[in-house]
Amino acid sequence: MLKTVRFMRRVSFMLWGISLAALLSACGHSLPPPDAGEPKAWVVENVASKSTAQLYADVIAPAVFERSSSKVIDGYTVESGNLRMPDGAMGALVTVRSADGSLIALINTPKKNGVLLINANGERRFESDPKHDDLTSDGILSPDKSDRPGKTSGMNVESPRVVDIFVGYSRAAADWARDPRAHAVAQVESINLSLRNSLVTNVSFKVVGIQVVEQEYLLTEETLERLTSIFAEGIKKSEPDLVFGFFPLKVGNIPGQAGGWAHMPGRIAIGSVANSTIFRHEIGHNAGGDHCNDEGVADYHFGYHNGSSGELMCQKGSAPVYSNPQLKDASGRPWGNAVTADMARVWRENAERLSSYSHVVLGAPKNFRFVAASLKSIHFRWDSTPRAVRYEMWGRDRVSLEPKRFGTSNTTDGFVHNPPSGLNPYHVVAIYFDGTESPESNVVQAKPHETFANEDQ
Ligand SMILES: [Zn+2]
Repeated sequence: MLKTVRFMRRVSFMLWGISLAALLSACGHSLPPPDAGEPKAWVVENVASKSTAQLYADVIAPAVFERSSSKVIDGYTVESGNLRMPDGAMGALVTVRSADGSLIALINTPKKNGVLLINANGERRFESDPKHDDLTSDGILSPDKSDRPGKTSGMNVESPRVVDIFVGYSRAAADWARDPRAHAVAQVESINLSLRNSLVTNVSFKVVGIQVVEQEYLLTEETLERLTSIFAEGIKKSEPDLVFGFFPLKVGNIPGQAGGWAHMPGRIAIGSVANSTIFRHEIGHNAGGDHCNDEGVADYHFGYHNGSSGELMCQKGSAPVYSNPQLKDASGRPWGNAVTADMARVWRENAERLSSYSHVVLGAPKNFRFVAASLKSIHFRWDSTPRAVRYEMWGRDRVSLEPKRFGTSNTTDGFVHNPPSGLNPYHVVAIYFDGTESPESNVVQAKPHETFANEDQ
C-alpha cells in the first residue's frame, strides 16, 4: 500500500488547475525480488546461430509471448508484445537484436522484472530490477510554461503524433547497458507497446539521438534540472521533443532513493539504467500523470490499482498498461476509472504538446562543396544537418553508371578515397537514428588531383 506524501512545493501550480495531490505523491517502484537461485550470468554457445526466441525462452517461462510489433531500426530487429502467464496475468517483452547476434530484452512478468543482456560472444546476464523507495515522490512541477498541460486538449486529438525523444547516458550507465543505442530503442519500444495496450492510438515515440557523457550523476532532482545542460551537445544535434537521461543507481535500496525523476507534466526525465520499467513510468509523468489516486479526487490524471493489479503509474507492476477504464485485467476488474484514473485520456490530450516541443525542419544537407583533392582522395565539406547521426557520400564511377556509396562520415567533413579518375558527380545524404536518409544534397563535380605524368593512374 502506498502512502501519499504531501507538502507545498510551489504556489504557481494553482494556476494550472491541478490538485495538490496531483503534483506530488508517492512513487511505487517496488517490484518482486529476483528468483532465488537463478544464475545471474552464463554463456550461450554459438549465439549468432540462435533465434531470438531461443535466447529468452527460459527467462520468460512459463509465459507465452504474444508478439504485436516487429520492425527494423537501423540494423536492429525490434520486437515487442505481451507475455501471458498461465493464469492469464499480463507481462511484457521487448527484444532488440543486432546483426552480430547480441540481444537486449526488457522482461516483465508478475514474478520477474529485469533486463536480459547477451553480447556477441554469448555472454549472458539477467539483471533484476533494483528495489526503490515506495515513498519517494519523483514528479516535479516544471517551471517552464510550455509544459502547461491541456495546451491543445480537444484539438486534433485523433491525428497521430510522433514524439521525438533524445536519450542520454552517463559512461557507467552506457557500460551497464553494453549497447546504449539498442537499450534506448528497447526502452522507447516499451512505451509504444504500453500505449498500444492502453488503446492510445494517436501518439508513438521515436528515438532521434543518443549521447554518452563521461561524467557520472546521481539520480536526484538537481540532476533532472541540469539535464539539458548535461546533454547540451546531443540535444543541439537531435533537436528532440523530449529528453531522458539514464544514470546508474550507485547503491541499491537506499531509503528515500527514487528510481527516477520527471517534470509532471513536462519534457525532461531521468531514471536508473538498471530498471526495466522506470522509463515508461517517468514519461507517464511527462504526459501529466501521477501515481495512485488514493483520495479518490475527481481528477483523471492518475494511475490505478484495482485491488488485484496495478499499472505503470500506480504500484507499478509488470502489466504494460496505463490506466484506462475500458481495460480489464485477468481477474476481470477494470484498469481505470473515467473520473479518477484515466491515463489513456491524459496521453490522448497531451499528444500534441508532447510532439510539439521541437520545430525542426528536416531536409537535404546544404552547401555540399569541394575542399581539396590529392592523388588518392577528394575532400568534401557540407553544412550540419538537423538530426543527422552520420553522413554518406555518393558518386559514380562513370556518369553512365548507377550511384554508389563512396564513404561515411560522423562529421561535416568527408573524404572519398580512391575516387575514379576524371570529373564525376558527387553528393551527400544525412542518415538519421532510425537508418532512414535525407534527400540528396546539391551535386558537385569533382576529380582527384592528376599529375602531368599521370603517374598515379
Ligand atoms: Zn513516479
